[in-house]
Amino acid sequence: MLSGMKRFPLPTPARLAVLPLWLALAHAASGSERDDAFARTIDELFPKLVETRRHLHANPELSNEEENSATYVTKRLTELGLEVQTGVAKHGIVALLKGKAGASEHCVALRADMDALPITQLSSKPYRSRNPGVMHACGHDVHTTVALGVAEVLRNHQDQFSGTVKFLFQPAEEGMPIDFKDDWGAKQMVAEGAMENPRPAAIFALHCRPTITPKGADLATKRYLEAGQFSYTSGYDSANSDTFEVVIKGTMAHGSAPQRGVDAITVAAEAITALQTIRSRRTDTQQPLVLTIGTIRGGQRHNILADEVRFTGTVRTYDEAFRDSVRKMMTQILDGITAAHGATHILDYRTGYPSVYNDPKLVEATLPTLRRIAGQANVIESIPGMGGEDFSHFAKVSPGFYFRLGVANEANGILGEIHTPAFDVDEQCLKTGVAGMAAVICDFLDAVR
Ligand SMILES: [Zn+2]
Ligand SMILES: [Zn+2]
Repeated sequence: MLSGMKRFPLPTPARLAVLPLWLALAHAASGSERDDAFARTIDELFPKLVETRRHLHANPELSNEEENSATYVTKRLTELGLEVQTGVAKHGIVALLKGKAGASEHCVALRADMDALPITQLSSKPYRSRNPGVMHACGHDVHTTVALGVAEVLRNHQDQFSGTVKFLFQPAEEGMPIDFKDDWGAKQMVAEGAMENPRPAAIFALHCRPTITPKGADLATKRYLEAGQFSYTSGYDSANSDTFEVVIKGTMAHGSAPQRGVDAITVAAEAITALQTIRSRRTDTQQPLVLTIGTIRGGQRHNILADEVRFTGTVRTYDEAFRDSVRKMMTQILDGITAAHGATHILDYRTGYPSVYNDPKLVEATLPTLRRIAGQANVIESIPGMGGEDFSHFAKVSPGFYFRLGVANEANGILGEIHTPAFDVDEQCLKTGVAGMAAVICDFLDAVR
């Protein structure tokens, strides 16, 4: 159990392993026959889903290096008979699956990310990472497996939907180093036409999540999101995630005679303190904002006045106009403080992923499906975070809904947070993910006829 975590009463998850309960729920709502047929296929496929996830988990690849993962995904999609385009944004894949002719000519998209993180895994499991220092610590192995599972279920039941399903397997969601100059990931896939021919009427994605803060709870509250559950937000879900580097330039001098130089360290200290007043003193208290400085480097020796200090950080906001105003205030503060001391500065501000906006109408239309699959009590509204997620680039082209897939299992001690060496999932989540996403896609295509 995570230290400091508050306990919250949990509803009993409608575990898919307990199939009668799940089927009972499915029967209670529309789409039940299709749900039943899908559930039988998913049960048969489950060993293959686990094998797929473990293969990907054991062979993680960093952002923009997902060559083997992409080859594996391509082979599986080709075997299923999908129309597959590879090499999109380096290792990205776009695949199309058509349903029965007739009712709907619409397209709906499903996105899965494939990259892993530079983390050394803490695990004795046989499927632990075989790639030293690299780990699927964000669950993208699960997302890829779920999307492949959905492709297989829909391929086996092409008579159950009409229209086109577009599968987007994307590289480099975790982002590139601050000095990486080109576009990558979702943005680059959009630039290369992944959202055209055909353009989807909506796009969906899911993301593994072991813990959430439920809406209405205090911000320090976390509870486990168990396998068998989903959570969601409506509206903003993640933040505009920008990065910056500041270089403060002073003049070197002997440390015993500071009046002969300009001390970049003193100027940087003032600037860093003043930058924090953007949040605390100068902006709308109702607008979410984080300004974090994560690194600082400067100086050569204890008795030399530093002529240069560099610091890097991140700015997180939801609103785009607000984001611009924060950037202007940063420039104003840096201009003023360096001028006051005879120093200069360079601000290299890079706009990163835009905030994910879950289209409220699409969310509203989709929730009944998730509730039908997982059970009413197992679809939980949570508060949005200030993380970054480049699904937003797709969701700027077509209305999007990005929801969370529960992966924890408190009884079995599967509790590790994402982006940590102890992260793992209860593999029952693969069933929930495939069942939920397949139903969401089919219901959406039914609705847009
Ligand atoms: Zn991540
Ligand atoms: Zn992730």
